[in-house]
Amino acid sequence: MVGLEKPPLPKQVYIPLSQHTGKACIPEVRPGESVVTGQRIAGIQAAIWAPVHASLSGKVTAVQDWPHPVLGRAKAIVIESNGEDRVAEDKRKREPEEVNKLTSEEIRNLVFSAGIVGMGGASFPTHIKLNPPKPVDTLIINGAECEPYLMSDYRLMVEKTGEIIKGIELITKCLGVKRVIVAIEENKPEAIKNFNYELRITCLAGRQANYELRILKSQYPQGGEKQLIKNLLKKEVPRGKLPFDVGVVVHNVATCFAIYEAVYLNKPLYERIVTVTGSCVLNSKVLLVRIGTPIKELIAFCGLKEEPAKIILGGPMMGIAQFTDEVPVIKSTTGIILFNQKEARIYEEGSCIRCGACIRECPVGLMPCLINLATERGLWQKAKDYGALDCIECGLCSFACPAKRRLVQSIRRAKLELGK
Ligand code: SF4
Ligand code: SF4
Repeated sequence: MVGLEKPPLPKQVYIPLSQHTGKACIPEVRPGESVVTGQRIAGIQAAIWAPVHASLSGKVTAVQDWPHPVLGRAKAIVIESNGEDRVAEDKRKREPEEVNKLTSEEIRNLVFSAGIVGMGGASFPTHIKLNPPKPVDTLIINGAECEPYLMSDYRLMVEKTGEIIKGIELITKCLGVKRVIVAIEENKPEAIKNFNYELRITCLAGRQANYELRILKSQYPQGGEKQLIKNLLKKEVPRGKLPFDVGVVVHNVATCFAIYEAVYLNKPLYERIVTVTGSCVLNSKVLLVRIGTPIKELIAFCGLKEEPAKIILGGPMMGIAQFTDEVPVIKSTTGIILFNQKEARIYEEGSCIRCGACIRECPVGLMPCLINLATERGLWQKAKDYGALDCIECGLCSFACPAKRRLVQSIRRAKLELGK
């Protein structure tokens, strides 16, 4: 397995104002202003949001429309590097004794100020998940990373085990839970070994909660919150409800690491780990990347064997195909996958033959063929009644369909029309 690498600092970053679930931020800097690495550059007054920070020191050159990996196009703050990577002077590290004295509210405020969102792809602001509206008794740490090709969480779990556990302890304090389950798939032996060792030390140190390491069978999809809860606790999260409704909160390992960095190192979320791989890539790598870096620079750093026919951001099943390599890395970018012509072939869509394969495959128990039918007719309420909003976009229905129906795309469309 390849080690974590740092590519050269980009000369210019394009930092989108929308990188979280909720309202897009408003710029707090103007073209011509100087910024330092980690400085807050955008925010908004809203119920659900997270601030955005500069990922380089240098000068703001523009606030403009730019390709966005999820939204197509969106406003971004452009920063030209001065090559110094100067960090704000008030970013003092905290000693463990100081961290131990922090209250739950102080931890939540630090997590909010650092702009942390769910880094497994969900992008929901983390400080809100640290304060659920109902009591919870179990915290699940998601180290499943079940999508093929992706290695970002695996590498992080191997290289930063102790730091992730410190992040977990901070979450445990905020939630007041007594049970913590760290879930890792069996195809990540180095991570399992490290966690086994470190969690034993944590338990010996007499921590408040009980820690369990659960090894999951490698299977797709099980990285979704509801699937994990079902697999680990045999609990169903009812349709339209959230994990806290069954007394559980789930956080991704990368989010735990970001919480550690925010609280111990006083470091906002301005870089993340990204896997760059696929049949067209010369040297697949796992990279520590500044937010806002155009993906073409990372692709150039890894090298190409052949021109890619398709670029996907995220995993091959749940990721989103991109129309340009100018698109930047954002807080939720887990991977960049480059497929060749053969792999990217688009099949002609046939008529539904009512075989039921999509229904059998759906891990959430939906009837994708019926949602598809409703979407094609613009019957959005019907699509909602069939459970379109509960779809986790795992792609298994499309994969199983012998008629090559574009089921996930049509469900995504329904979700957009329904405002989710
Ligand atoms: S993508 Fe298809 S299989 Fe996956 S949850 Fe949605 S409807 Fe079910
Ligand atoms: S798998 Fe395809 S062909 Fe079969 S029922 Fe579903 S949509 Fe129709």
